[in-house]
This record gives sequence, C-alpha cells and structure tokens, in this order.
Amino acid sequence: MPEPYWPKRKGSYTLADAAKHNTYASIRCTYCKRTRYYLVADLKTAFGDVECDDVVHVARLRCRNCDGKGSLELKMGGPPSDIADKAWLRRIERVEYKRRIVWKETQGV
Ligand SMILES: [Zn+2]
Repeated sequence: MPEPYWPKRKGSYTLADAAKHNTYASIRCTYCKRTRYYLVADLKTAFGDVECDDVVHVARLRCRNCDGKGSLELKMGGPPSDIADKAWLRRIERVEYKRRIVWKETQGV
C-alpha cells in the first residue's frame, strides 16, 4: 500500500498556530458534558506550544466534575453567542514554581 502524501499525524497544528485564528478553546468532558472555555494564550503559557491534539494528554487534565470518568475533548473556538454569558471561562490565576531537592548518596564521609 502506498504511503499517503500527507504526514500520518495531521500536520502539526500547535497552540501557536491556533492562537492566530482563535482566542478561545473549549475542553468538554464526554461523560458529564461539562465544558470549560480557556484562552488559547493561557493554554500555551501553561503547557507550551504543543500540538492541539496533545493538550489534554500533555496536561494530564481530568474532569473535576465526574472525577475523570470521561475523556476530554479540546476544540477551538469560543461559546455560541446564545450561551456566552453563562459559559465558564477558566483563566490562569498564577503560576507557582516549586523548589525540589534531589539527594544523592556517596559513600565515605
Ligand atoms: Zn466529567
């Protein structure tokens, strides 16, 4: 069977690419149908310029509402205008850096 002309992974459409056309993205839980909206710029700040398809995996996101029973789907675009005023937007409040000490043992004092 001939190899397809296009790459097997649909190109590499990253958050930086998406940010050129979209301000918002949504992440929806397939189990409880809960949707949260994010700024694409916030996602990029949080997870780096990863491929859009990888955001949910890279971020290890889980739905808080059903404790991760469903899988999460990322879509570009904001809420439909009829529900925009009721939609929940999740923004980065702050980024915390944690200091972690790694010990090693050597023999002989
Ligand atoms: Zn859920």
